[in-house]
Amino acid sequence: MEGYHSPQVHVQVRLNTNESPVAPPAAWQELLADEVASVDFHRYPDRAATGLRRGIAELHGVGVENVFAANGSNEVLQTLCLTYAGTVRTVVTFEPSYMLHSHIAKISGATVVSGDRDADFAITASIVDSVLERCDPAITFLCSPNNPTGVVDSRELVEYVLRVAPGLVVVDEAYGQFAPRSALDLVDDSRNLVVVRTFSKTWAMAGARLGYLVGPSWLVEELDKVVLPYHLDTVKQLAGRLALHFHAEMRDRVETLVRERERLVAVLTELPVRVWPSGANFVLFRPLYHDANAVWQGLVDRGVLVRNCASWPRLGGCLRVTIGTSAEDDQFLAALGDVLAETPEGAGS
Ligand SMILES: *Cc1c(COP(=O)(O)O)cnc(C)c1O
Repeated sequence: MEGYHSPQVHVQVRLNTNESPVAPPAAWQELLADEVASVDFHRYPDRAATGLRRGIAELHGVGVENVFAANGSNEVLQTLCLTYAGTVRTVVTFEPSYMLHSHIAKISGATVVSGDRDADFAITASIVDSVLERCDPAITFLCSPNNPTGVVDSRELVEYVLRVAPGLVVVDEAYGQFAPRSALDLVDDSRNLVVVRTFSKTWAMAGARLGYLVGPSWLVEELDKVVLPYHLDTVKQLAGRLALHFHAEMRDRVETLVRERERLVAVLTELPVRVWPSGANFVLFRPLYHDANAVWQGLVDRGVLVRNCASWPRLGGCLRVTIGTSAEDDQFLAALGDVLAETPEGAGS
């Protein structure tokens, strides 16, 4: 098996892992430092993470019994796979999508069956049908907005998958707050649906490793049996609980990044690249006449790192840029304009 890799190069402008370009509020960090000073470190953490889960539940208007939190949404996904996938079971993904869905499912022992998104990277009802004819999945993964394409699933599509998929439907909304719609309001004890979110992107807390899901209470009960006891350390629980006091600041940050995304897309549209519309804090694009690897290297040479997707299945020639501060985005756009102004390699001189 291949491991999961996200190469890091030391450059000035890092627009490759969809992190927030700015830190969380200083007031949050001060509050956290104060509370950490009086933590009883000789005691185990609150195993049920009650304060944190209550805060998340209030944020979404659900019960504390509808929230499961873990070390990043990756651990949420892993716990879902350990609980509902595993050997002799099948997991469905729609590619290209977030690599860890299929990766974690396989590690759990499950067989992964993948549907192929259409030319615009959308999932259609007929794509869903053709996958479900081939298997009987325990879990069907959706990702909206989808990483790395930025596509937001339509409400009709999510409802269709919920209707026809036999097992659990997981909607990964790591970028949910950047998008115009969410599946959160569909979560109900009567549906096999969970929505997964994270503090890593919109909350600007990738370093804290905290994610969660909102789902049926009966499902949360099952996950609690599977996950390791005391998996959420005391400091992390505090970090998440206190972050929720800065919800307005998070929304401001998201609004700024969405405006910045629209600005960046408008400029990219004027360049010789194909751009896909995005509901997230990143944009996928493909140079029309230039080799993507050469463009990626040209950007690195100019101090800008983006994600090179050129060798990923279905993403030949594509690069993905994370939205940064407007200064960083300007640096990216200037560097890209520069690189694309050069004569493409292989073109006659
Ligand atoms: C970044 C990302 C995550 C986040 O994982 P964490 O473990 O919460 O940092 C989850 N899903 C998708 C699709 C992502 O892009």
